[in-house]
Amino acid sequence: MGLLTEGSPLSWEETKKYANHIRSHGITQLLNIFKRLQHRENDCLKWGDEVEYVVVKFDHAKKKAKLLLKGQDLLPKLQEEEHNNPGKNETSWKPEYASYMLEGTPGQPLGGCMRHFNMIEANMKLRRQEVMNLLNPEDECLLSMTCFPRIGCPQFTFPCEVPTPTSGASNSLFFPDQAINRHPRFSTLTRNIRERRGRKVAINVPIFKDVRTPSPFIEKFPIVEGEGAAAALPDHIYLDAMGFGMGCCCLQMTFQACNIDEARHLYDQLTVLTPIIHALSAAAPIFRGYLADVDCRWNVISAAVDDRTEEEQGLVPLKNDRFRIRKSRYDSIDSYLSVAATPYSDIDLVYDEEIFQRLLNEGEGMDEPMAKHFAHLYIRDPLTLFSEKIHLNDEKDSDHFENIQSTNWQTMRFKPPPANSPIGWRVEFRPTEVQLTDFENAAFATFVVLITRVIISFNLNLLIPFPRLTRI
Ligand code: GLU
Ligand code: MG
Repeated sequence: MGLLTEGSPLSWEETKKYANHIRSHGITQLLNIFKRLQHRENDCLKWGDEVEYVVVKFDHAKKKAKLLLKGQDLLPKLQEEEHNNPGKNETSWKPEYASYMLEGTPGQPLGGCMRHFNMIEANMKLRRQEVMNLLNPEDECLLSMTCFPRIGCPQFTFPCEVPTPTSGASNSLFFPDQAINRHPRFSTLTRNIRERRGRKVAINVPIFKDVRTPSPFIEKFPIVEGEGAAAALPDHIYLDAMGFGMGCCCLQMTFQACNIDEARHLYDQLTVLTPIIHALSAAAPIFRGYLADVDCRWNVISAAVDDRTEEEQGLVPLKNDRFRIRKSRYDSIDSYLSVAATPYSDIDLVYDEEIFQRLLNEGEGMDEPMAKHFAHLYIRDPLTLFSEKIHLNDEKDSDHFENIQSTNWQTMRFKPPPANSPIGWRVEFRPTEVQLTDFENAAFATFVVLITRVIISFNLNLLIPFPRLTRI
């Protein structure tokens, strides 16, 4: 779920002091990439998927299933082949937010030949098998499941860990910090989102009302010091930690376009499909053991990483902050990217005027929609910073750019080529909920990549005016 840096994470107070430094150098790094590579041509289609998984432990005698906090112990073994034979590895493994999660991708990108579309399911099967080979077949299992239904219920992890509502990273009534991946990035993100926001994240999922559901549905929570369950609403399932969202799993597809214009075009066209694919893949009907009146993870993650202050949310007048911001940094995108899409765009886009002007002035041809896109992403603060990574070489590094770019978790992501790599301009499609079987996941991945070929070959225009685009 973003850039992994090794080192010593700074506190929120310290990170905040460097926010302008990160933004300004991030934009310099973007400009360097853009000026160097905006005319790059003739890249061929390459694509790949990312599947996120949870590791589950069964107690057959007691008929219980728990999340096994073992992802990080498995990871080094799963990564051995990639370390020993880089370029030849068939699979690639990355850590994810929770210590019960793993993320697997094909080891090498797939291409545009028809046979590559037939290879993806086999590769997903291989990934599952690689993990299963490291698990005890009696009582451990890898699942590609969007939201494990008992996240946040008492004793939902193995080993059993206890939440710490008045201390630690989440301060959650339900989600123990030990369920967060031990890499410092993840707990730092959790703590800094909460501290930036000024209070715990608050997620209220409408409860599904069956004949026996009490009405109003009001839960009794333990009385603790601090915020406790002050933000809980009646008739809702109350959740209070980043882990309820980022501890969910999804399926993402990334593909390389032949040049920057094709990438922008596909970014726009696929945006229109994001709510449709999201609804088609909907796979999250249960949160904290309760049946919900929604069936997708999206609004849960969106609220689970919502770092906006009360001023930014418009709850109190703007005084110390810079913008009123309509959405969480995990949400649907806010603008189309190609010049041809300008007539369909939203006129109320919030963006950083100074950054916008700088991109236009120094971008050697960067046009308004592109400059606005990045000036919009850059209304956000960096959420993590490592003391070893404050002063970088803007010609060679793109970490400051990626810092803000990769913590804008939106339905689509436009990805400039990384500094010093052979990779071209790419687009990532991010709304899909992960499915239980490799067949279904392969079907979604293949469908989305094939639809890009259809859009290009038939020169389709799927755009609708931005404000009419259904928000996920
Ligand atoms: N797990 C997150 C989700 O379900 C995505 C994190 C990522 O961007 O890799 O959307
Ligand atoms: Mg991920």
